[in-house]
Amino acid sequence: MKNTDDMTQAITFTGSCLCGQVQYSVTTEIEGFYLCHCQQCRKITGSAFASNILTKPVDVLWVSGVDKVKRFDYPGTRIFTKVFCTECGSGLPYLNEKGSALVIPAGSLNNEPVIKPINNIFWNDRAQWYEAGIEAKQCSNFAK
Ligand SMILES: [Zn+2]
Ligand SMILES: [Zn+2]
Repeated sequence: MKNTDDMTQAITFTGSCLCGQVQYSVTTEIEGFYLCHCQQCRKITGSAFASNILTKPVDVLWVSGVDKVKRFDYPGTRIFTKVFCTECGSGLPYLNEKGSALVIPAGSLNNEPVIKPINNIFWNDRAQWYEAGIEAKQCSNFAK
């Protein structure tokens, strides 16, 4: 895990959607990496949790496919945002509603991030099958 001094250094992140039409690059400072288990994050990702790297707010450089980038903001006391490729639906980076942070979905990165997750947030809301999934048999390919 990076220590606090290292986290103040600007890092360039590059990533893409699954179909590859949208490519991005951002150079910014890491502020955190959390796994969010809340119901809304499970819905918006279609998975057990959202894996989000938080950084200082900077504009995303869309290297390609900017015309395929769509933003969805779900209103409420906590606003849930998804920026995604309109072709394949993959999650992409976005500035939060307040503009106070850039949120990078860790799975969209081309390379392993230099930071590990720090917190599991909204832990009590986690899917009942989450821990069973971690303990399930590990297969290098499809289950036989
Ligand atoms: Zn795509
Ligand atoms: Zn959440």
